[in-house]
Amino acid sequence: MRLHEYQSKQIFYRYGIPVPNGRVASSSGEARQIAEELGGRVVVKAQVLVSGRGKAGGIRLAKTTREAEDLAASILGMELKGFPVRKVLVDEIVNIQKELYLSVVTDRSLRCPVMITSFSGGVNIEEIARTTPEKIYRIPINPLLGLRDYQSRDLAACIDLPRDLWKPFIQLTHDLWKVYLDYDVNLVEINPLVITADQKLVALDGKIIVDESALFRHPELTDFQDTGNELPVEIEAKKFGLSYIKLEGNIGCMVNGAGLAMSTVDVVRANGGEPANFMDIGGGASAERVSAALKIILLDPSVNVVLINIFGGITRCNEVANGIMHVLNERQVHIPIVVRLAGTNSDEGKNILNHPVLKQAESINEAAKICIDLAGKAA
Ligand code: GDP
Ligand code: MN
Repeated sequence: MRLHEYQSKQIFYRYGIPVPNGRVASSSGEARQIAEELGGRVVVKAQVLVSGRGKAGGIRLAKTTREAEDLAASILGMELKGFPVRKVLVDEIVNIQKELYLSVVTDRSLRCPVMITSFSGGVNIEEIARTTPEKIYRIPINPLLGLRDYQSRDLAACIDLPRDLWKPFIQLTHDLWKVYLDYDVNLVEINPLVITADQKLVALDGKIIVDESALFRHPELTDFQDTGNELPVEIEAKKFGLSYIKLEGNIGCMVNGAGLAMSTVDVVRANGGEPANFMDIGGGASAERVSAALKIILLDPSVNVVLINIFGGITRCNEVANGIMHVLNERQVHIPIVVRLAGTNSDEGKNILNHPVLKQAESINEAAKICIDLAGKAA
């Protein structure tokens, strides 16, 4: 789950990371009010969960309260990269001397958190990472030992930070590390982290991505959840507690167990097909749960064939079959559904399945091949 800039900054503030004064507004009138409190010179920032808002015109500086109101009105009417702007952050203007970059990210290939910094932060960081990667420094952090002081000093030295700023920088790295730990974060990023004209460090932007699987440990974050950027299928899947991830293809997948669901995605790809989603209905799923899952997959307009792969252990294949038949009896389904049932009560399950759109397969490879063939014909 990605947090908005204003939400990330609220967390930064609580952890002692310096952020500009400011508040979020939902209307231009509110923005005007905030600008007035801050003395008129403010920056108005679109709160949408996309990157590169600055370059897309979603971040504008105002010299007066009046101008802030007008800018807020125009930004609130905008769509940034397809997402409507519902809120703007109104922050006091910070006079920038230098833009740095600082983040902590879970690095899957190194299998540990990494703190990343650069002396060339700002809106071109992706460009810099591509063209001059030597300007970006990474330090792996041992998750059990945590961030050590020498590592923070190392980072400060790497970016040639002025001596006066070492102490606040080291403090900031520790605060950021604490945010990373406390919130089960995948990424916490400050870009730009600025050196102000009066030689202070301020987090001008903030981005936090929390590991969704850990959200139950952070009930306070549910208020932060913005479903405006989620697909209808994802919202429905969440309601039923199904783990669902949208993918690019056209073969809708429904599988019991995360490991089997991943293998299913792999097998489909290995055979030359493209899965439309990852879905794990969990162990011991009831007929109701199976029906809900199938209906969710059918909600996705890009799906033109469904692949159901069940290896019954605790899950009983007859329950699964009943769930599938329930959906087919209740509504008109026109796209083919290929089912592979194996394990507990599979014979019983196979006998229950009976409908013109259903095809059965003995192995996952066979099922994948049939799906790819059908998906090709539908396209
Ligand atoms: P992003 O484009 O979505 O990453 O949005 P940022 O919050 O990083 O803002 C983009 C750029 O706008 C920053 O790199 C700054 O150059 C500029 N900017 C943002 N806030 C201020 C501010 O208070 N003062 C000044 N002078 N520039 C700002
Ligand atoms: Mn930024």
